[in-house]
Amino acid sequence: MISFVPEPHLLDSPRGRDWPRLRAPVRDQDAAPPPFAEVAIVGAGPAGLAVASALWHHGVRDVVLLDRAGEPCQRFFGRIDLLGQRVLRSPYEHHPGVEGYRDCELLDFARLHWSRLTPVERREIRMAQAGHRSVVPVDVFDAYCAHLVASHHVAERTWRASVREVRPTTDAVTVLADRFTVTARHVVLCLGEERRPAPESWWGGGRPPSGVSYWDEPLPRGGQRQIVVGAGLTAAHLIGNALAAGREVHWVIRETGERFQCADVNSTFFRPEGRARFDRVTWDERLGLMARFRRASIMFEFRPMLERAEAEGRLVVHRGEAVTTVADGAAVRLDGGRVISGDLAVLALGTAPSIGTRLLPPDLVAERDGWPSLDERTLGYERAPRVSVVGAAAGMVLGPAARNIDGHRVATARVAAAIAGRLSQESVAPQRVVARV
Ligand SMILES: Cc1cc2nc3c(=O)[nH]c(=O)nc-3n(C[C@H](O)[C@H](O)[C@H](O)COP(=O)(O)OP(=O)(O)OC[C@H]3O[C@@H](n4cnc5c(N)ncnc54)[C@H](O)[C@@H]3O)c2cc1C
Repeated sequence: MISFVPEPHLLDSPRGRDWPRLRAPVRDQDAAPPPFAEVAIVGAGPAGLAVASALWHHGVRDVVLLDRAGEPCQRFFGRIDLLGQRVLRSPYEHHPGVEGYRDCELLDFARLHWSRLTPVERREIRMAQAGHRSVVPVDVFDAYCAHLVASHHVAERTWRASVREVRPTTDAVTVLADRFTVTARHVVLCLGEERRPAPESWWGGGRPPSGVSYWDEPLPRGGQRQIVVGAGLTAAHLIGNALAAGREVHWVIRETGERFQCADVNSTFFRPEGRARFDRVTWDERLGLMARFRRASIMFEFRPMLERAEAEGRLVVHRGEAVTTVADGAAVRLDGGRVISGDLAVLALGTAPSIGTRLLPPDLVAERDGWPSLDERTLGYERAPRVSVVGAAAGMVLGPAARNIDGHRVATARVAAAIAGRLSQESVAPQRVVARV
């Protein structure tokens, strides 16, 4: 069998170019939003941006977006830049733009800015046009998201807020944030995913011991020896950065070997026939598919770099060894009893979907095996139909692709159409409804 290993230089797209931007009005970040809106979106990441853009096309403009950062997509690009990630894992077809409307899609946008692209980036665009797998620069994706934000008036409607509680009633939903309250006809939770914490048995829970941190925290400078725990793309970025800084790296992976794969989910799940495969099976079979296809893997492009470093002894891989405890001074004990220690240990244990449990009463989320109970047609909570989800939380309806940008677009199409349809039947202004509650 011939195995194709793509070239590592695809990973090196430049970051921070000066893209031409549409003008967007500047608003006081600390002002409060209007107390009533037709739709409130909690979370302004790529999923929230997709929902706001789609509602705009449906003619629903009375929308309030609430996000901890107060700026669209900040957590997404913040995490990516912290890891030094220069290209996305998803191809050009995956973007948070709206299908079925005359929007500029990600590939159109990249082609419009041809003169700003490197020869490698231009070749990837030709690959995408020819229907092959292509690698998208983070810089292009960032500029494209900024374009969507400006062209759909999203920045003007985004407010910094930490949402603490979501209270649905029959006619409306009240969103309680740290500084204000907003009541809306419909609420869409686009909460994304939180980092997966280490098991309590590793050090007893809470903040990690000294010398130990998580992948989404800034790393201390210096140190000669770094331990990385985890088997996914995040771990691969951490290893690449540590090697580039001249450190010796110890990599702990529980599985017996690393998995290299183009996308993080089998690409069939991004197509309608793949999603249909998920539709037709029982809950338990869906759980089985999720366990099989939501496993950690690394983009192929990393393989030459990792293999070379291992051959040269700069990288020591501890395959098939699970961590049992972690102690001060980055001392990591493996299940065979061996302890490896370094100047720092970084944990990249994946992420877990936020399904609304911290915001909605548990009986409304009706959690089952870690997933919310959703109406499959509208992605509304079965017991709170005015609240719906877009993003990873829709995983048990849309399959493993729900956590990716392409899955957000599929979910958005359902949610935005359902909300726009219901709003057109509900003519009473939200404040009058609230007065009746
Ligand atoms: C390093 C990295 C690289 C990735 N690369 C890709 C890729 O190439 N392609 C791909 O398809 N997917 C990729 N993903 C998966 C990716 O996370 C999702 O596709 C995308 O970020 C999810 O968008 P989201 O809007 O659902 O979540 P997020 O981007 O996390 O946005 C959720 C937002 O909600 C806010 N929020 C949550 N709770 C509250 C609250 N209570 N109050 C106020 N605000 C709140 C958060 O602060 C955040 O801003 C990557 C993930 C990571 C971590």
